[in-house]
Amino acid sequence: MALTGIQIYKLLPKTNCGECGVPTCLAFAMSLAAAKAELAACPYVSEEAKTELADASAPPIRVVEIGTGERKLKIGGETVLFRHEKTFINPTGIAVLVTDEMSDEDVAGRLERFKTLEYERVGLTLRADLFAVKSLSGDAGKFEALVTKVKSQTDGGIILMTEDPGVMEAGLKVCADRKPLIFAATKENAEPMAALAKEHGCPLAVKGDGLDEVSELTTKLTEGGLTDLVIDSGARTIRKAFEDQVFIRRGALLKKYKPLGFPTIALPCEMTDDFMQETLIASMFVAKYGGIVVLSDIQGHSLFPLLLARMNIYTDPQRPMATSPGIYEIGGPNEDSPVLVTSNFSLTYFIVSGEIEASRVPAWLIIVDTEGLSVLTAWAAGKFVGDIVGISLKKSGIMEKVRHKKVVIPGYAAAISGDLEEELGDWEVLVGPRESAHIPAYLKEWKA
Ligand code: SF4
Repeated sequence: MALTGIQIYKLLPKTNCGECGVPTCLAFAMSLAAAKAELAACPYVSEEAKTELADASAPPIRVVEIGTGERKLKIGGETVLFRHEKTFINPTGIAVLVTDEMSDEDVAGRLERFKTLEYERVGLTLRADLFAVKSLSGDAGKFEALVTKVKSQTDGGIILMTEDPGVMEAGLKVCADRKPLIFAATKENAEPMAALAKEHGCPLAVKGDGLDEVSELTTKLTEGGLTDLVIDSGARTIRKAFEDQVFIRRGALLKKYKPLGFPTIALPCEMTDDFMQETLIASMFVAKYGGIVVLSDIQGHSLFPLLLARMNIYTDPQRPMATSPGIYEIGGPNEDSPVLVTSNFSLTYFIVSGEIEASRVPAWLIIVDTEGLSVLTAWAAGKFVGDIVGISLKKSGIMEKVRHKKVVIPGYAAAISGDLEEELGDWEVLVGPRESAHIPAYLKEWKA
């Protein structure tokens, strides 16, 4: 049973050093009890206390890892029902389905789109994560050949989909070193599937006919020593699958019901034949509360909005997205190119850099650390003012890179120009446009 805050407090060092991010051990204990902190944040917990606290500090939904290396996908670990309560942690994995009854052309198309459909947004690379390789034929040789093809052509995660342990073994023979998700253990095949998961150290999906059956299976498997489980409730209608997702999350978080304390997998590909409706269903499971969604295919016009929805839902609502401060070279600037300065709010950076690029005038863009605030908010908060911007410019090294002595500040920060000129000495401060959209026209007129 979970420990209370006071019970946890008794096991902490009680030195109130604050290194865990809160001022006292009691506050940390309360956060742990509410699953709003991780035990690892306190470097001084004794090994003995760690063992006792393991239960209390474990996330109510287990973190499960699929794959290896850079493309390893983490799912689960969520601690809240609604992202505004804290944040959602591990973004839903997006999987693309291929089967051993698809034509070579269909498989090749999906592999190609998986590799090429990548998007850069606010400094992040957005793309699909996994291939779900499914045996429809029941032929172990065909399955093995398809898994071999997928493994050799992508570095993404792999889900092996068959309920036949013999066919599963053929797939694992090829790709166990990539730690695929074994999908799925059912009431009928739980024992041999569990044996395969143990032998290869792979996570195992559990598929039941409803949540009672799922709970029985996860209990049996955890008692047998398997803890990296992923839940498929078995529902294939939108309403039932949605209800199950909510029930699982609420059961794990609010009732601390351990048999449902695992991430989930949802299969929009089996819920509709309409490709765009499938994307809509997937977006629903990204919001509530799919650990993985499996799609029948991906196209730019379906994947991109889904990736953006995922990015928005899984960004921390309490922390603005920020770009690293420093000098950014846009279009190969030289010593006569203009120097512009702005805040490190990611959106500001990407809009301003995009407009500079669009102007085709090479330029230097200096990003000042405003703790992720936009220009106007940062100015109001005293983080984008003359002395701070001046010091950032000097520290950035831009003065050694250009021959002229001019810097362009955002129009909305015109009020800092006097202080900035004072800070910079002999540099001239030019007030740029208020709206980023006017940057190209402004730059075309600019002269060193
Ligand atoms: S880091 Fe550990 S010892 Fe220090 S205040 Fe936090 S809980 Fe207490």
